[in-house]
Amino acid sequence: MKTHTQVVVIGGGIGGCSTIYHLTQEGITDCVLIERDELTSGTTWHSAAQVTNFGPNQTMIGLKSHSIKLYKELADDLENPINYHHGTGGLRLASTQDHIDGYNHFMSLAKGMGVDFELIDAAECKRRHPLITTDNLLGALWDPLDGDIDPAQLCQALARRARQAGAEIQRFNPVTGLTQKPDDSWIVHTEKGDTHCEKIVNAGGYRCNELGAMMEVQLPVASMEHQYMLTEAIPELEALDFRVPLIRCPTDDFYQRQEKNGLLVGFYEQGCKTWGLDGIDPQFTMALCPDDLDRVVDVMEGAFQRLPCLMEAGIHSIINGPITYTPDGLPLVGKIPGQRNAYCITGMRAGLGEGGGHGWLLAQIIAHGEACYDTWCIDPRRFTRYANEEYTALKAIEDYQNEFRFHMPHEHRPAGRPMKTTPLTDTLETMGAEFGTVNGWERAVYFKPSDDFKEQHSFRFNNSFDIVAKEVAAVQNDAGIMEVSGFNRYEISGKNVHDWLDGIMCSRVPRKTGKVGLTYFLNHQGNVKGEATIANVGDGKIWYGSAAAAEYHDMDWLVEHLPDDGSIKVASLTNNYTILVVAGPKSRDVMQKCAPRTDWSKEAFSWLSVKKVYIGNAEAMAMSVSFSGELAWELHIPNEQLKLAFDKLWEAGMAFNLKPFGLLATESMRIEKGYRHWKADLICEFNPFESKLERFVKMDKEFVGREALVAMQAGEPRRIFVSTEIDTDEAPAHPGDSIVHNGKIIGTITSAAWGHRVGKNLAMGFVDPEYAQIGSGFEVEAIGKAFAARVCEPCLYDKAYELVRS
Ligand SMILES: Cc1cc2nc3c(=O)[nH]c(=O)nc-3n(C[C@H](O)[C@H](O)[C@H](O)COP(=O)(O)OP(=O)(O)OC[C@H]3O[C@@H](n4cnc5c(N)ncnc54)[C@H](O)[C@@H]3O)c2cc1C
Repeated sequence: MKTHTQVVVIGGGIGGCSTIYHLTQEGITDCVLIERDELTSGTTWHSAAQVTNFGPNQTMIGLKSHSIKLYKELADDLENPINYHHGTGGLRLASTQDHIDGYNHFMSLAKGMGVDFELIDAAECKRRHPLITTDNLLGALWDPLDGDIDPAQLCQALARRARQAGAEIQRFNPVTGLTQKPDDSWIVHTEKGDTHCEKIVNAGGYRCNELGAMMEVQLPVASMEHQYMLTEAIPELEALDFRVPLIRCPTDDFYQRQEKNGLLVGFYEQGCKTWGLDGIDPQFTMALCPDDLDRVVDVMEGAFQRLPCLMEAGIHSIINGPITYTPDGLPLVGKIPGQRNAYCITGMRAGLGEGGGHGWLLAQIIAHGEACYDTWCIDPRRFTRYANEEYTALKAIEDYQNEFRFHMPHEHRPAGRPMKTTPLTDTLETMGAEFGTVNGWERAVYFKPSDDFKEQHSFRFNNSFDIVAKEVAAVQNDAGIMEVSGFNRYEISGKNVHDWLDGIMCSRVPRKTGKVGLTYFLNHQGNVKGEATIANVGDGKIWYGSAAAAEYHDMDWLVEHLPDDGSIKVASLTNNYTILVVAGPKSRDVMQKCAPRTDWSKEAFSWLSVKKVYIGNAEAMAMSVSFSGELAWELHIPNEQLKLAFDKLWEAGMAFNLKPFGLLATESMRIEKGYRHWKADLICEFNPFESKLERFVKMDKEFVGREALVAMQAGEPRRIFVSTEIDTDEAPAHPGDSIVHNGKIIGTITSAAWGHRVGKNLAMGFVDPEYAQIGSGFEVEAIGKAFAARVCEPCLYDKAYELVRS
């Protein structure tokens, strides 16, 4: 047994086995996997083990494709083949036009990753799966590579290959404690002794929070009981000379796959049950929960209607086991927030299909700091302190109940909300705010025209269109006010703070007191990692602002680069301040009226400056910056004075037709201006030149990632960021939709919205370099059609930036 190693992976389910194998592939062969029992003794052994290529975004599609490729390779291993029904094919059923619109979007998104799904009608579904009825069926999304695998054989194969490459696998050895040494390395205490390592990986499945507790971390993971049944042989199946495809049904919440000559049918019932929230019996290993078919009767009925053969089929066995969920249904793969040298791969609800890919990406992150795809959608730091045990459980229930129901555009599901509110939330609600959430914060999406207004969520332009148009018009013609809750804010101070930050940012950090600047920082590979507004507020202090979602992400990066001598301090103010944005040509009048002691004139308060002000008697840090493209101020107000400040602004605004506006109006306006959104348009798959941020890159100084960036400059750009206008008023594009030319995929959409001030259907995205010139024509896919589109100017509204400077 090794007592010193580079990486210890704790847990021998698919998460752990995939990680240890891929670590060896990334060059870390000195590594150990420690499993408390036998490999696969957690959830993995009893998994239905379906392996689909379907995913909600391109990173998920890409990592699933990796799983499929790897599993095929393992199945084809002549010496140690494993059972993998590769390419059986799968049907994701559609019973509504929304399902069809959604599948068209996911099909386009997958195509961009080289994965070809197909949309087929009900008759074709019946031809491919003769046992189904076609009542209320419009068709299905066909995944040709869908299949199922033997989970135990898969994990054994990965462990065998890892062992052959130098890794050590320890079974029947529970980890009992974790101690971090002053140099940030770890001692992993086990029943058989201690192992000293540089990095640890929590792959503990439904026990991930037992391991979390050993390092005082609570991961937002909750387990749900989940059941499937296996039938006896079914004569209609025996009569076929092919395996029937898999089925997943978003209406009746069941799945089905063939198992020998019978069917395996799994259920996602509405009356579902959490598991293990109050602790897990240490003896629960290679174990199941008691069967409870009564609980799933509601969804069984729908399954039986779609597959009448089930009515006659005998039940061979029932499997009920714990399955892990996170608040948004995607797993936690990457760095554990606030910890050094600690990673996790857990919270997988479809770990057999995804695990191959997640282990691959995690091994890259451990070995190189970053993976080949942007992994924000699975990054554990996307959840912050609000994602406590109870919230996670409520979201897990909601997610389980909606297993195959994808989120519609603008849909923010209700469980566990409101989780984070400001002193203004109630006021905005009485003003008609429809809320969405951003990093757990409630934020107004738009203001409803009447109490009974209900948005019909759709992939097409819908009944929120006119509401957003009016909000934009109010901002454009008079003045608007918006609360930006939870905006990420740090105060950075200390000796040579500007020099230090200049060494991290590829942009110039404003050195003059009272100035504000937009800055970017890169990872060590030279790709875009983040964006921050830097305000020099004087007294050697910097206010660092970034997207609400970046709260843990950016802190991690800054802390990682702090000088060892403790001379720089980074303090989070995120939970103490809220931003009110006042925007529009009359915003200066509003400000002058309610904050008369400050001179808000163009000369005295010029664009990109910051000042401490009083709004009535409420204090605020005011910045003359604009995300809408109109003359605007961002007012950073201590939460305890937020209501006071809002009331003063509202009162003053009456004379100037001040109206509230929300996120969707902002989205429309920022796309017209060509402003990017972090983790939509700014992703770490592209460098700042490819992302068209060259004016923010100062190559005449040293900064993190510079060397890699210089090396990349010598080569060809991968893709280039562009703005586009699309010739349709039927539907917007959606992030992930493909951009095509003559049938060839040449790019991907990252953001899209109707530009209400310019009257155009706009989108942003990355395209192959030869299509990046202004005027270049191509098609953008949306709702199953290819609409003519072309590259337009990045800034379509107030190109000379006269309004913001006016
Ligand atoms: C009924 C059911 C059907 C499913 N069907 C599918 C499907 O069709 N397709 C699909 O993709 N997914 C499916 N899943 C989900 C899938 O099985 C899981 O996502 C996956 O198995 C989770 O793997 P894991 O490695 O995260 O966890 P686990 O398999 O639970 O592995 C965690 C391991 O960590 C070990 N461990 C924990 N604590 C310690 C410790 N202190 N010291 C050492 N070792 C420790 C445990 O013993 C365990 O072996 C299904 C799940 C269920 C319950």
